[in-house]
Amino acid sequence: MSSSVALRLPSIDGLLRHPACAPLAERYGRDLLLTGLRQLLDELRPDVLSGQLAAVEIGPEVLAGRVGERLAQQQRSQVRRVFNLTGTVLHTNLGRALLPEEAIEAVEMAARYPLNLEFDLASGKRGDRDDLIEGLIRELTGAEAVTVVNNNAAAVLLTLNSLGARKEGIISRGELIEIGGAFRIPDIMARAGVRLHEVGTTNRTHARDYQAAIGPRSGLIMRVHASNYSIEGFTARVATAELAELAHAHGLPLLEDLGSGSLLDLTRWGLPAEPTVRQALLDGADIVTFSGDKLLGGPQAGLIVGRKELIAKIKKNPLKRALRVDKLTLAALEAVLGLYRDPDRLAERLPSLRLLTRPQAEIHAQALRLQPLLADVLGEVWQVSAVEALGMIGSGSQPVARLPSAALCCRPQVSKRWRGRYLLNLEAALRGLPTPVLGRIDADALWLDLRQLDDEPAWLAQLPQLQVDP
Ligand SMILES: *Cc1c(COP(=O)(O)O)cnc(C)c1O
Repeated sequence: MSSSVALRLPSIDGLLRHPACAPLAERYGRDLLLTGLRQLLDELRPDVLSGQLAAVEIGPEVLAGRVGERLAQQQRSQVRRVFNLTGTVLHTNLGRALLPEEAIEAVEMAARYPLNLEFDLASGKRGDRDDLIEGLIRELTGAEAVTVVNNNAAAVLLTLNSLGARKEGIISRGELIEIGGAFRIPDIMARAGVRLHEVGTTNRTHARDYQAAIGPRSGLIMRVHASNYSIEGFTARVATAELAELAHAHGLPLLEDLGSGSLLDLTRWGLPAEPTVRQALLDGADIVTFSGDKLLGGPQAGLIVGRKELIAKIKKNPLKRALRVDKLTLAALEAVLGLYRDPDRLAERLPSLRLLTRPQAEIHAQALRLQPLLADVLGEVWQVSAVEALGMIGSGSQPVARLPSAALCCRPQVSKRWRGRYLLNLEAALRGLPTPVLGRIDADALWLDLRQLDDEPAWLAQLPQLQVDP
């Protein structure tokens, strides 16, 4: 021991009674405080015994401060808000669509109070949760009936299993897709108990290919919207109407997995054309499945719409019970669907559509406004410029389409050898902010695409806390 008078750690009891710990006990409860103090003292004890700590380092105020920091850290929610400046609007890893106010209010109501989730208020009898949105879906898509499940992957699984189990599902080789997160059509078919009967080739499939595949074991024909890739050049795909005619001539249902499933023609807002649910049904698809949180702009859900007797069959499947949506989702979904009744105001009211249609000039003006502020915080080493950039819709919608946007482009003014490290450090520092800021690294620069920077004041307020390691 280096000092002649050995230091002693304060006692747990003493610390618990110390005024510095009172606010912590109040805030986190005595049990958590006690555990925190014990852990800290245990960690410090060896250093105290070996004389490596000074008296000031183990004073009650200092110890209380350290325990307080730890408790605050533990208390912090793991689910955290972030700024999505990646340029991808419907980012699957960042929660896809943002809900409109109307849906947030509906979710709050559903969370706070009992509600008629499966109770028919008119008759006083037991109801069906799908009925809560059936009227709206019929109006918006022309479908006869609807059922809702947890997501579109579940919708596809449930539909295939309900209508095609132990039979063959006929599908084009050009549509055997994989969506991120290990959703692959052949695997889903197998899990659904449907035997895959692939027809045609990757780039070209004709009506005669489907025709030749139809036989006594056929259960359904499926078509899948190629959401996240595009086949171009020498290609052929049978139109839904023609395929429907063929299916119906043989008494088979035609399923169409639209993926994004737009309810309205997006070209009216200058966005790339996407097939609409209504059109797929008009063309003769018997069942159409699509996501609630992609272009629809609502909560995570899988919608299954189409012919009444097929929907009835799907609803009887015990898997439906396992895949059903909860009350919060239904409340949000109904509110979002309600907004579609007034298409003229949809782009103002639905956040995903508002963000997707933000004019490039407006985003560029924002970039010009923020450029000097970020440049100032980052200092000499970084060259920050307001530039035009290209974003994406995301979530497998329109993989090749680009959204003209604008970004803050940060380039480290260091030799090529060090650039990678500087970029990673800046990226980490942005991620380390109280509300993490997520951009993307590309071509020796870090890009912050501002299309989705709605809450500029909150972004600016935390900027002074940005500390980038060299
Ligand atoms: C996105 C997508 C799915 C999966 O939908 P989730 O709602 O993410 O489960 C299935 N099929 C297609 C064609 C898709 O684009």
